[in-house]
Amino acid sequence: MISRRIVLRFPHRLVDQPIVCKLVKDYDLEFNILKAYVTPREEGLLVLELSGGDKNYERGMRYLRGVGVKVQPLSQDIIRNERRCTDCGVCVPICPSGALVVEPLTRKVQFYDNKCIACELCIKACPVQAMEVHF
Ligand code: SF4
Ligand code: SF4
Repeated sequence: MISRRIVLRFPHRLVDQPIVCKLVKDYDLEFNILKAYVTPREEGLLVLELSGGDKNYERGMRYLRGVGVKVQPLSQDIIRNERRCTDCGVCVPICPSGALVVEPLTRKVQFYDNKCIACELCIKACPVQAMEVHF
């Protein structure tokens, strides 16, 4: 049995396709949607907790990649370079999941990586390149 939190990125052409339903019907997987978001580029982002038998899980992943869905583990590839961050706050309103917030008392910007859905919007927005993608 496997249970993982993953981020699925759907290109625009796939956004209205019943792809996640197929994971249930054809691969006997269970899912719990944690977050859903459409980026300004009209790419669909879905954060799921997906679980099922080992073989079905792997087959489901192959199916997703085969149709053109990018699959990533949740947030493990986005980090903040604390030495670079100037707490300017530019990234805060851009972050769709509330992973970047201004602490009211200190006015420092906190990064809660457990909330990050790896959408990468902050990467381009940060003026000092403090937000980094690691593969
Ligand atoms: S990648 Fe950046 S903007 Fe996107 S959810 Fe994570 S912290 Fe927020
Ligand atoms: S935009 Fe960059 S420098 Fe500004 S608060 Fe966010 S991570 Fe820090």
